[in-house]
Amino acid sequence: MKTIKDFNFKDQKALIRVDFNVPLNDAFKVTESNRIEAAKPTIMKILNDGGSVILMSHLGRPKGVTEKYSLKHIVYKVTEILGIQVKFVEDCIGEKVELAVKNLKPGEVLMLENLRFYNEEEAGDVSFAEKLSKFGDVYVNDAFGTAHRAHASTTIIAQFFPNNKCFGLLMAAEIESIDKVLKNSEKPVLAILGGAKVSSKIGIIENILDKVNHIIIGGGMTFTFIKALGGKIGNSLVEDDKLELALEILEKARQKNVKIHLPIDAVIADSFSNDAKYKIADVNDIPDGWMGLDVGPKTNVGFSFVIAQAKTILWNGPVGVFEMPNFAKGTIELGNAIADATEDGAFSLVGGGDSVAAVKQFNFENKVSYVSTGGGAMLEMLEGSILPGIQAVLE
Ligand code: AMP
Repeated sequence: MKTIKDFNFKDQKALIRVDFNVPLNDAFKVTESNRIEAAKPTIMKILNDGGSVILMSHLGRPKGVTEKYSLKHIVYKVTEILGIQVKFVEDCIGEKVELAVKNLKPGEVLMLENLRFYNEEEAGDVSFAEKLSKFGDVYVNDAFGTAHRAHASTTIIAQFFPNNKCFGLLMAAEIESIDKVLKNSEKPVLAILGGAKVSSKIGIIENILDKVNHIIIGGGMTFTFIKALGGKIGNSLVEDDKLELALEILEKARQKNVKIHLPIDAVIADSFSNDAKYKIADVNDIPDGWMGLDVGPKTNVGFSFVIAQAKTILWNGPVGVFEMPNFAKGTIELGNAIADATEDGAFSLVGGGDSVAAVKQFNFENKVSYVSTGGGAMLEMLEGSILPGIQAVLE
């Protein structure tokens, strides 16, 4: 795997695909700048080598040129984070850009306009990719968040840099952390899968059955398993067309010697609301009119015990409706147990969809080994796909 560490960028122009798709408020101010901060080490290494940087990104989902989605709005933030005045050009291809790139000196940073102002970007258009490729001596992909898309700037462009393409430090860290879980993992390996539905996690479960020793199942999908096993789940979330599949998963896990840990009790509520009445019940004996919205105290103890034994931990999805304070306790206790295991030397990766939101909300970010920056991209990697943006750099 080639990264920017394998190159000396002195007098080189690095064309970096970053993911600066950050949220903006009504006054066009950046409200959450993690993605910009995550790309800083890559940019700084190139500048410190004596190179110059051309940044390309998308912002939002514009239909053609849309003022609201102009990347000019974020130039101030990138400037602030890098501590260098970032230049901006109001297009991403064409003469204006050619001139701006030509005039760019070592140590300078130029940001191009939103790539998605051209339909060719998402269409993966080869000639658009070729036009972009002219702006750099080296292509650097540091946009993990879009690595699962075969777009012009994330994938197609790489063919124009047969020897001069590499990953940025963020991409490399994402790839290494997932490899630590799925390939070079220290055993026992534990995957914790929560979230709403079995159907959205089935690809992950099937892929990881060959790679892990334990799976903790929590969240809404618990109840499809419990019902399939003959339990009473009241009005809990269930996918009746996945009952058979749930049994198949349990059987496959048994054959592969993977231990599946299901909740034994639940916090049940009489409606889907933080103001609902709630109490504790056995997970397979939930009365009609009540629904399981969090794991119960006995389950917390059991899950914490399993987590404490693990040397490698993957966490995807909350084990309860963590957005409602009364049903967040299970997810918080789970996070604490993962934090403790990490302190004791386990490697923990949190990624994919909502678990990252939960980790941030409860301040676990610095207590786990790695928090992935790419929701969809991470999910696809967990499902075993080789992402087009990664493949294109490796080829
Ligand atoms: P996902 O995007 O699949 O990871 O699902 C995350 C969502 O699952 C969160 O919004 C949680 O509120 C929801 N969730 C977790 N546990 C439950 C549950 N027991 N019943 C309904 N929804 C749940």
